[in-house]
Amino acid sequence: MLQNTRVPHCNKAQARGASAPLVLLPHPSPLHHNHHHSCCAQPVLEWRQHQRRVLCRADDALLHEAVASTSVPTASPSALPPQLVPPTDPSAYCVLNFYHLTPIADPQATVEEHRRFIERLGLDIRGRIYISSQGMNSQYGGTVEHATTYAEWVKQQPGFQGLFYTVWPADGHAFPKLRLKYKPNLISLAGGMEAMPITDPAARATPLEPAKWKEMIAQAKDKDIVVLDVRNDYEWDAGHFEGAERPAEEVFAETPVGEGEQEVPGYLKVVDKDAPVMMYCTGGIRCDVYSTFLRKKGYNNLYTLEGGVQNYFRQEGGAHWKGSLFVFDARMAIPASSEEAGALRAAVPCSLCGSPDSQLPHVNCANIDCNELFIACAACKQRFDGCCCEACMSAPRLLRPAKVDGGHYGAWGNYADRDEAGPIISTGRTREGRVARRARRREALKEKRMEFVSEKLARKKMVRDAMARLEALEQSPQEAEQKEVACTP
Ligand SMILES: [Zn+2]
Ligand SMILES: [Zn+2]
Repeated sequence: MLQNTRVPHCNKAQARGASAPLVLLPHPSPLHHNHHHSCCAQPVLEWRQHQRRVLCRADDALLHEAVASTSVPTASPSALPPQLVPPTDPSAYCVLNFYHLTPIADPQATVEEHRRFIERLGLDIRGRIYISSQGMNSQYGGTVEHATTYAEWVKQQPGFQGLFYTVWPADGHAFPKLRLKYKPNLISLAGGMEAMPITDPAARATPLEPAKWKEMIAQAKDKDIVVLDVRNDYEWDAGHFEGAERPAEEVFAETPVGEGEQEVPGYLKVVDKDAPVMMYCTGGIRCDVYSTFLRKKGYNNLYTLEGGVQNYFRQEGGAHWKGSLFVFDARMAIPASSEEAGALRAAVPCSLCGSPDSQLPHVNCANIDCNELFIACAACKQRFDGCCCEACMSAPRLLRPAKVDGGHYGAWGNYADRDEAGPIISTGRTREGRVARRARRREALKEKRMEFVSEKLARKKMVRDAMARLEALEQSPQEAEQKEVACTP
């Protein structure tokens, strides 16, 4: 068992109100739920064994051993692409990811406590570390020694026993600076997540180990299992599981989580609420959060991929996966298996010429008012000079140097935010004046961008309509003419 503090449990039985006999097992931790079904007995035992191993290792303070204890690939390291091999050299750079859902009484005070620890030890770690009343969500980088020292310390904090983190090789600092701060919501989601019971494992989906996931997804097509991608659409473009539909929302943060029955994704509306749904995301947190919403909506046969796709790659390689995995740091993408360790493959063709030789990372259009994140082939990246279309190449505010090898401009393309790269440690408390200035600037940029995008969409629509008319004419000249007449007011 790997993920977080979750005791594997049987959501299905609970949701259906099954009264399974209690199994006489000492309770692993007061944090965990007290439902022991007969079907859960084995996983609980496994979990306890894992837990014991983790605790023993926490006792010896050797950093590199701690790394090995948290993300042990089942495949031999030589079979893994270098991007997936856990780094062991304490001075090597890495990206370290974890999240942990547990109630935190005073998150603001906790932030200060964490900041003091980092400063006292002089840890040069950079990235996003968010703390809320519901736990922590962290993606940061630094040397293996610095990064794991902090993670191991977090693991010793009350409520954080069994914290599961993963460590990935990086060429240097993968984040510009440390953003350690209190955030009411650990992930961005429309309407917030404070009211969601995410710290209760019983309210979430059933976690599946990567091997179990692989077994189940192999049968997804035959058994009408829904495979649900809980990410942004551009992440799906970079790579996704077979059978998963492209997310309906452009960004996961806009996924509706309101009261209305109509607010579940379209492809879930048509399936039985008892039908199995396999949910996945990069590291697992988005599924844990969103699954509590779906369960509230009555879906009671939900499964999540433990440790997310990144962990699946390490354990099971690229089985049933198409393309690569988008990640939110300087690496931008990681390969699923060693066959793809060279140029990273995307799951969709070049958006400019349609060539299947599309390559990751995504390109962030050099036109600041467009800012589109798109996938292209190497030739088109050169030909369009880092822009997403011809119109962008001659845009009036082509302020930034083209990134023809792909990559984005940081702060999601807000190039004007460059001056922000100031102090290495930011607690989120900035001077009022600067914050207001930035907000104004962002608002102005947004307006410009909207203007540009709507113009572009209108242009695209014009071309599409013209093409459709042409096609219709070719098929049946008379009918098309009649239609035209009928449409004219
Ligand atoms: Zn192309
Ligand atoms: Zn563009």
